[in-house]
Amino acid sequence: AADHELLLSYIRDVPDWPEPGVMFKDITPLLRQPDVFAKTVDLLAAAADGPIDAVVGIEARGFILGAPVANRLGAGFVPVRKEGKLPSDTSSASYELEYGQATIEVHRDAFTDGERVLIVDDVLATGGTVRATVDLVRAAGAEVAAVSILMELGFLHGRKKLLDVDVHVLLSL
Ligand code: IMP
Repeated sequence: AADHELLLSYIRDVPDWPEPGVMFKDITPLLRQPDVFAKTVDLLAAAADGPIDAVVGIEARGFILGAPVANRLGAGFVPVRKEGKLPSDTSSASYELEYGQATIEVHRDAFTDGERVLIVDDVLATGGTVRATVDLVRAAGAEVAAVSILMELGFLHGRKKLLDVDVHVLLSL
């Protein structure tokens, strides 16, 4: 409970960003505070139940959180990026946004069959991004051991898209 309050106190609400009516959860104050950032990494890494071969971080804030989690677990790091950013051969997954579509990609040779993967991101909103990432990782032959998320916007019911995955969330709003 104390950790919960600590982390929450370093997340800033930014109204009407990136568009009117949206309350954006800004984690940059948390990243700026060394002890709070380190605590967050520890807690995100604790979602791993058993050995993890690779941590998958989702562009862009999932990179910031996922890379230190990978180090902490003695695992490698795999970036999942927006379309057109990865240099080598990729697999892609598309999903619906409120307006339009998004596509994310991973390198085809990122995993070997049966590897255990932990997916890390900052915010679970509608769940579309994590859903697509889970599908990408599985299609690439790896096993999703768990998903570890800093903050869930519960009113958007993202978990309904993730009933087949072990989802761990540090903060629920
Ligand atoms: P979803 O696909 O709707 O679950 O959106 C999740 C993605 O959007 C994550 O990669 C988040 O980084 C980003 N996102 C959505 N809302 C917020 C927010 O309030 N703060 C930070 N990131 C957000």
